[in-house]
Amino acid sequence: MWLPGHMAFSFLICLPLIVHLKRERALALSYVMFFSLLPDFLHLGPLRYLSHSLVGLGAMLLMVFIPLVALSRPRPALLLLAAAAAGGHLLGDAYIGSIAPFYPWSLEWFQVNEFNSAFDIRMEVVFFTIAAVIITVALRPWRSITSVASYSARERRGLLLTALPAMAITGLEGAYFIIVSQGPGLGGYRSMLLACFMAIFLVSVVLLSKSVGRTGHKLSDSIIMGRDIT
Ligand SMILES: [Zn+2]
Repeated sequence: MWLPGHMAFSFLICLPLIVHLKRERALALSYVMFFSLLPDFLHLGPLRYLSHSLVGLGAMLLMVFIPLVALSRPRPALLLLAAAAAGGHLLGDAYIGSIAPFYPWSLEWFQVNEFNSAFDIRMEVVFFTIAAVIITVALRPWRSITSVASYSARERRGLLLTALPAMAITGLEGAYFIIVSQGPGLGGYRSMLLACFMAIFLVSVVLLSKSVGRTGHKLSDSIIMGRDIT
């Protein structure tokens, strides 16, 4: 699967947890964006066997969790969300693409549908549209983004640490998608999928800028502090 399909697929799997993480919803979405792509950060040659296996994914999660927990101390629900989103990547690639779930004990690939086929592109556009409609209609995206202003320093660090790599890989894979799509042409659904890449890139830029932006509750904090003093 390409990146928009992965994000949408993992988003749908993680929806109950995202609904649960009400105040940290922007952070939860940033987690899904990053962790739904985690295996594709190791995508070269034999490394793809490892990153698309259960053992490899567990090791990658552990390697990312250690600095993430040390720097931003996320709530357990966020770590659960991260593991579910990363597991969703393997399910997505098993459905469209390929995975080697039992590597290193077995090199056997599992595949249901072919990657980058017409079916793949159409399904990813469908998944992404469903996810985008749910986010827009039910998850109050604007309120989630503006509420970042009330985040603590550790929550902002968590947002920064997930939104930054999500933005980088979206830019890189989007460029690669354009190159690969030159053969069969970029018409119709491929153009729509490219628009999905651009929308994701934009969202990651907004999340990243919010994570380093100014805190918006300075005034109210000082009023509360003033009350405490008097
Ligand atoms: Zn993959």
